[in-house]
Amino acid sequence: MRAGWMRRRAVARTAIAALAAGLTLLAALAVFSARNTAQAITGIAGAEQVTQQWGQVYLRIGIEYEQLVDFVRADSEVGRGPLISSIGSAEENLRWLNANGGPSDSFQAQTLQNTYGGYSYTLRDLVDAQAEGDRARMEDDAKKAALSASALRKQASVNIARNNLETSGLLLETQLDNRRVLLAVEIISVIDLLLVVFCALVLVAYQRSTERQARESRYQAMHDSLTGVANRSLLVERLDQAVATGGGTGLLLLDLDHFKEVNDTLGHLVGDRLIQEVAARLTESARADDTVARLGGDEFAVVLPDIGTTDDLMRVGRRILDALCRPADLDGFVVDVSASMGAALYPAPSDSTTDLMRHADVAMYTAKRGRLGVALYDPKHDGNTTEKLTAGAELRNAIEHGELEVHYQPKVRVSDRTPSGVEALVRWRHPARGLLGPDAFIPVAEQNGLIRPLTDVVLTAALEQLRTWRTAGLTLPVAVNAGADCLHDAGFPAHVRALMDRYDAGPGELTIEITESMVITDPERAATILAELRAIGVRVSIDDFGTGYSSMSYLQQMPLDELKIDRRFTARIEQEGSGRAIVAAIADLAHACGLHVVVEGVEHEETVAILDEIGCEAAQGYLFCRPMPADEITAWALAPV
Ligand code: C2E
Ligand code: CA
Ligand code: CA
Repeated sequence: MRAGWMRRRAVARTAIAALAAGLTLLAALAVFSARNTAQAITGIAGAEQVTQQWGQVYLRIGIEYEQLVDFVRADSEVGRGPLISSIGSAEENLRWLNANGGPSDSFQAQTLQNTYGGYSYTLRDLVDAQAEGDRARMEDDAKKAALSASALRKQASVNIARNNLETSGLLLETQLDNRRVLLAVEIISVIDLLLVVFCALVLVAYQRSTERQARESRYQAMHDSLTGVANRSLLVERLDQAVATGGGTGLLLLDLDHFKEVNDTLGHLVGDRLIQEVAARLTESARADDTVARLGGDEFAVVLPDIGTTDDLMRVGRRILDALCRPADLDGFVVDVSASMGAALYPAPSDSTTDLMRHADVAMYTAKRGRLGVALYDPKHDGNTTEKLTAGAELRNAIEHGELEVHYQPKVRVSDRTPSGVEALVRWRHPARGLLGPDAFIPVAEQNGLIRPLTDVVLTAALEQLRTWRTAGLTLPVAVNAGADCLHDAGFPAHVRALMDRYDAGPGELTIEITESMVITDPERAATILAELRAIGVRVSIDDFGTGYSSMSYLQQMPLDELKIDRRFTARIEQEGSGRAIVAAIADLAHACGLHVVVEGVEHEETVAILDEIGCEAAQGYLFCRPMPADEITAWALAPV
């Protein structure tokens, strides 16, 4: 494209240079033609003057001769005066011609001057002869004079003719020259005209390509290069436009679930394909007037002009989310697509573009936290944004000042429903907001590097509680959820060992629950740390199994003891035939790898029977017991079954 542009520029420059040369040539020809004509006019005027002088010579000699004839005929005193005064009358003209005529005129005049001198002498002699009465001399002189006058007049007329010829030659030459110049002017004018047309075409093409480039630059500045949908700048522009019309405007903000895992596990190319697929699905399900935008990473937005009510907004939001959330085949990898969506509406409660963006963000955060799919902006949830900013500092303070509590939820044996252990689940007794669940602050801990101190608090509390229960005669092994940072810390196993020693925890009495996503970033290092943990008697459990993308491959490679089937699968056990088959297949797989199977989220009696049939060892869920403070668990455990 650049080469083409350079070529066009070279052509344009050449055309303009040629046009300039053509115009200069035209001007030069005009000057030449004018000068040539002026020269010719001067030449012709000069020749005319010379011809006139020769004419005078001819005329004066003729008059002299006629005076002579009259004088001779009268042969009296009367004709003498006029004859004498006419003698030498052409002398002045001949002198002029000698001095001012061209080379041949000058030469001819000189020759004629001599003959004319002789002629004048003869005339004077004739006058003298008449006065003396010498008739014979008179006659002789008259004859001589007649001959000379005739010769002189002939020569004068020859010169007149020659000069006339020269003048017409000069005229002809000038005419010819002018005709040539005219032809050249015509040809050059046509060429110049063509060049002007060509330059105009080149300029128009130039202007078009400049306009096209400007359009392309604007498009690039306003669109996302990976997906071709609008970018943040264009989104804001469209939002402003929609809001300016005064009509109801909806904004949907979407964030994909598990995108980081897809990227980490299947690579960035597949990640990019997923982003493109999401953009395509959103564009397909949006109306022509809607604007789909990518805000960066896995975050998208849809601007919906002409949305009147929150009901309409939520209906559209759900429809778009439904169209988006179905498995995608990305070059052979089938990936589950799911997302959380926040919705906000202008003019109420959001009364500006900035508000719309912020409110949709708050709603999206609510949807993500509550796993709601779509959430409408609710002023009740607002303020979280400012809280989010200070939450890191606040949580750090909470950890240091003992605001974290640990609740426990039992895991029961499916066969006889006796507790096989408990899972420690952290809570934050917030001074202003009351008891908060982990979803409200675990992400804050992850973002602020607080997972290690938080895990320490839970680990310490759980091991201390283990010792308390043991002292009370209860055997309740504890499971603690480890945050991602723990598997990146080579010192973690030694730290756990020190705590176990401090609280006399024996082998198998502590389980560490990890998730698939924690393992993905650096599987080798994770495997080393997990192997070290097992070596000191810690059991390792893989949590939320089935929600990630790495499931099968890691089962074999990782040193594990237990697998917890995520409650999403549990929920489907009773609803669909395939739900039961999936849980059975996962359990079979786990057993084949030598793992103990725990099923999470058991809420119904019927499920327990099915799990028993499938052969799952343990179950956890509200059916048996909700997460509770330690003393309530003690009471629950001691109560007769
Ligand atoms: P998780 O490890 O899957 O924990 C089980 C969650 O399922 C708990 O939510 C529990 O209350 C909930 N649950 C138990 N039985 C049922 C049931 O029958 N139905 C339903 N719908 N839910 C049930 P909780 O306590 O809100 O914890 C949420 C998540 O927070 C945990 O999921 C875990 O990933 C994380 N978490 C909790 N405590 C800690 C911790 O100390 N450290 C770290 N890193 N993460 C923690
Ligand atoms: Ca867990
Ligand atoms: Ca779980």
